[in-house]
Amino acid sequence: MDPWELATKLDELKRQQRYRLRKTIESPQGASVQMAGQMFDNFSSNDYLGLANHPSVIKAFQQAAERYGVGSGSAHLICGHSAEHHALEEELAEFTGRDRALIFSTGYMANLGAISAMAHKGDEIFQDKLNHASLIDGGRLSGAQVKRFVHGDMGQLKQLLEGSSTRRKLVVSDGVFSMDGDEANMQGLVGLTETSNAMLMIDDAHGLGVLGEKGGGLLEACDLNQQQVPILMATLGKGLGTSGAFVAGSEELIETLIQQARTYVFTTAMPSAVMAATRQSLKICQQETWRREKLRHLVARFRKGAEQLGLNLMPSQTPIQPIILGSNEAVMAAGEYLKEKGILVGAIRYPAVKKASERLRITLSATHTDSQVDNLLLGLEELFC
Ligand SMILES: *Cc1c(COP(=O)(O)O)cnc(C)c1O
Repeated sequence: MDPWELATKLDELKRQQRYRLRKTIESPQGASVQMAGQMFDNFSSNDYLGLANHPSVIKAFQQAAERYGVGSGSAHLICGHSAEHHALEEELAEFTGRDRALIFSTGYMANLGAISAMAHKGDEIFQDKLNHASLIDGGRLSGAQVKRFVHGDMGQLKQLLEGSSTRRKLVVSDGVFSMDGDEANMQGLVGLTETSNAMLMIDDAHGLGVLGEKGGGLLEACDLNQQQVPILMATLGKGLGTSGAFVAGSEELIETLIQQARTYVFTTAMPSAVMAATRQSLKICQQETWRREKLRHLVARFRKGAEQLGLNLMPSQTPIQPIILGSNEAVMAAGEYLKEKGILVGAIRYPAVKKASERLRITLSATHTDSQVDNLLLGLEELFC
């Protein structure tokens, strides 16, 4: 007997309609993408500002590759940390109003590294139940005791904090929730962590670039400083359109991560060209406020149209606009139907979301046109009405 039973388990996933296939994209990311020679309106990417394929971002990438080559050659602590990494860290610190920032290769690694460097056996971590998988996994890896509270339930969090007698408590939450698109109750989280002397960590992967006057994210929008939110993590591969992530906070926090975060220490630094490209996209993000205005306009247009169709929207003001269908069969069929109409949306199933909350995850980008959004609404009308 085969002890691994891989084929059996894969068949099981297929039977449950949970088997996942990758789409192969033949074009740059954008409001439309090419697949199998055909163009699709793309409502499934996290390139919210439309910077992933911006000419001046590409140019910065090319010029840095000419200067630095491709590979960084080593980890940051050996000889992989270039002037481009360093400059981007300083610019991100200034952008987010923190003392310092530290670049990680992915958001997943940043969360794993930061949480496991901060919390250890004997400490307690409090996580919103809808937190991103990387935050949950960071908690597990840390060896600390993890308590999860019902999504956004400040009453339950308060009880859990009051019932805790550990000295070191870390409260962790998405800023903008990746699958629901709603925002964390920042006043609640800041208030509770202050009164219980807990540390607060916010993952603003979907807020950075999108929220706040200058695109500084949810913490800029809520005007929360480093003292109120000591650990800010955000990614570079979503709103900023490139790749990687960073953690921002105090001098001591960043030095601790440089010494202790294993996903920082034991990995090759990202290519300098990615850093140079990100520096350029960070400039565009701050200067071109029209991208955020356009997003707000598109979100409003989509929500108004969807409400007129009687669709069940979630309370999200961000470019993440899910429509819950509640079964694997329903989301797969809806995704397939829209694809035949030339429209790509995310069909999200367990384990990315809870069972029975399977959904279409529609995401908007500043580079979508009104008529693309109207066409999406038409597709949804044909599908559901
Ligand atoms: C995407 C995402 C991450 C992971 O970031 P990557 O750079 O893609 O690894 C972490 N947290 C949240 C909330 C995310 O949405």
